[in-house]
Amino acid sequence: MKKVGLTGGIGSGKSTVARLLANAGFPVVDADQIAREIMEPGSPVLERVAEEFGADILDDEGVLDRSELARRAFASKEATERLNAITHPAIRAESERRFAAAETAGETAVIYDMPLLVDLGLHSGMDLTVVVDVDVEERVRRLVEKRGLDEADARARMGQQIDDATRLAAADVVIDNSGSLDALEPQVAALVERIRG
Ligand code: ADP
Repeated sequence: MKKVGLTGGIGSGKSTVARLLANAGFPVVDADQIAREIMEPGSPVLERVAEEFGADILDDEGVLDRSELARRAFASKEATERLNAITHPAIRAESERRFAAAETAGETAVIYDMPLLVDLGLHSGMDLTVVVDVDVEERVRRLVEKRGLDEADARARMGQQIDDATRLAAADVVIDNSGSLDALEPQVAALVERIRG
């Protein structure tokens, strides 16, 4: 089974490409979705996060106050690293479980939709690394206009990610999403052929 890593800076259109690949029939392992699931009430990961950052980040039903955790965990590099040390291995383990399940189900390829694929060096475990690329200013514009993000917030989030040149250097395939959605489709179709081939 081929593992295809799919990544791109926030606002690049990575989720859009993942959707097109899912429509083409490939199973998609979504790292952001796993990140949310491991923080659901009662999960062992959430318990460890509460031990580390304070039980008062959970309400009476055990639901995480995300903005309060963000405030505490992003207060310093050291605090961010403490959070990542809990969440990243858990995301990785669950991702591996899903790859194994796809293989057991007889899938010939799986797409790993992972924003931090190159940042965390996980592209080295992939058979193919796909980077969705758009210049920073267009990404900011799309995030503000289409996803309603505040411009400063969009730029701050980008600042926490690996730089574009380093991400692109890790790519086997670059999808250029600087044009329209129509321009994306033939590129995805070519990628589908390459994955199947
Ligand atoms: P990511 O997952 O990389 O953060 P998304 O796929 O959510 O990015 O795309 C960011 C926003 O830009 C979404 O609202 C999406 O619908 C939109 N978008 C994606 N590709 C294009 C494009 N080629 N032209 C215009 N808008 C786009």
